[in-house]
Amino acid sequence: MKIYDIVVVGAGPAGMMAAIRAGQYGKNVMLIERNETLGKKLKITGSSRCNITNTAPLDTFMEKFGRKGTFFRSAFAAFSNKRLISFFGFKGLKFKEEKQGRVFPISDRSRSVIKVLKEYLSENSVKINYNTRLNGIKKKNNYFSLDLGNDNYMATKKVILATGGVSYASTGSTGDGFSIAKKLGHKITPLKPGMVPLKTTEEWVRDLQGISLEDVHLTFKYGKKKLISDVGNLIFTHFGISGPLILDLSCQIVPIIDKNKTIDLFIDLYPKIKHHELKEKFIDEIEKRSKTEFKNFMRLFTPNRLIFVLVELTGIDPKKKVNQITKGERNAVLNLLKALPLTINGVLPIEKAMVTCGGVSKNEINPQTMESKIINGLYFAGEIIDFCAPSGGYNLQEAFSTGYLAGESAAKNLE
Ligand SMILES: Cc1cc2nc3c(=O)[nH]c(=O)nc-3n(C[C@H](O)[C@H](O)[C@H](O)COP(=O)(O)OP(=O)(O)OC[C@H]3O[C@@H](n4cnc5c(N)ncnc54)[C@H](O)[C@@H]3O)c2cc1C
Repeated sequence: MKIYDIVVVGAGPAGMMAAIRAGQYGKNVMLIERNETLGKKLKITGSSRCNITNTAPLDTFMEKFGRKGTFFRSAFAAFSNKRLISFFGFKGLKFKEEKQGRVFPISDRSRSVIKVLKEYLSENSVKINYNTRLNGIKKKNNYFSLDLGNDNYMATKKVILATGGVSYASTGSTGDGFSIAKKLGHKITPLKPGMVPLKTTEEWVRDLQGISLEDVHLTFKYGKKKLISDVGNLIFTHFGISGPLILDLSCQIVPIIDKNKTIDLFIDLYPKIKHHELKEKFIDEIEKRSKTEFKNFMRLFTPNRLIFVLVELTGIDPKKKVNQITKGERNAVLNLLKALPLTINGVLPIEKAMVTCGGVSKNEINPQTMESKIINGLYFAGEIIDFCAPSGGYNLQEAFSTGYLAGESAAKNLE
């Protein structure tokens, strides 16, 4: 039976990069992918525009990966955001920077990223077996036997598992790598949804489906604790709320919901104006338009479709002339504009999350090489590793960086 130097399992960004890097060392590399194409998830990233990385410095990158983010130091150092940009730039792919340092290809197409990866795979003679699903791994003396089903086996000296998480399973990431790693003795930390929309108790959010609130600020309160967001955008959905602000905080919210069951959320629609300044503006406008009906007057302060919700929540007669609004009623309106209350009572399932938090425990992976501390010659790359990062290009950079380091380490280990 032919014995490959390295078999990489999973042709997502992590697996493709691992195979390319190992190929650059002249190794005999096989990339296996259960789908009929490469990078099915990569294709839909960033709404098919692919937010590939971020311009943030290395320290910020590690912070984004939480308390144990320093685990990724060697990987980010081996293949940094700058190296990623020049790696793709070398093949003519140019990038642009958007809000908060988010980097996208100028083409606004994830396909152009995949095209470059394909070029690198081919020029480094990486063999690719599509429609090939790994079922299990056995280590026999100095090589691994890969069970590909129907009595098909493949032999290799090193294996890199880059099978992703369990979110968006239709892209091929169904968590196979977790059960395979577990059978080999690895600990899998609990899998939780990361970057996931939130569900609310209030029914009125359904009527606002599709409405977005721009530049708002969120305060989540649970017990005596608070979780405070940056200023950003939120979108109402038929089940609750989503949008960048929500997705980014959701990693922190999921464990709180698990424990507390509900969290109170307060949305500040005017985060840049203090309460008393908003009050002055409100009174000024009342003086200018004293005979205007309350529901029409509120157009000055909120998006149209939100008006009827606010009006209902204040209990003020929508036809009341604004000069007849009492001080108590005015305060009720101002309080809603500065702290519109919602009750978060759950999150969407992990399948609908953009990333999977949890996975192969970092304690059992050597951060310098991505090699398993339990099985020599077995490496991990990408979302299969236990971590949770927000949006902004951090997840793809992690996949490329760990893939690069795993590919390089596996290749060097053969020399
Ligand atoms: C809708 C959406 C948008 C996103 N947008 C962004 C973004 O703009 N920026 C960002 O940084 N991150 C984004 N992410 C997250 C990012 O896509 C992932 O973190 C990244 O794809 C993980 O890469 P990976 O290579 O580890 O895994 P994956 O991309 O999941 O690839 C794993 C591959 O392994 C294959 N596989 C699985 N099991 C087997 C098996 N048993 N045998 C053979 N092959 C197997 C799968 O078919 C798949 O092709 C987004 C995610 C989603 C769902």
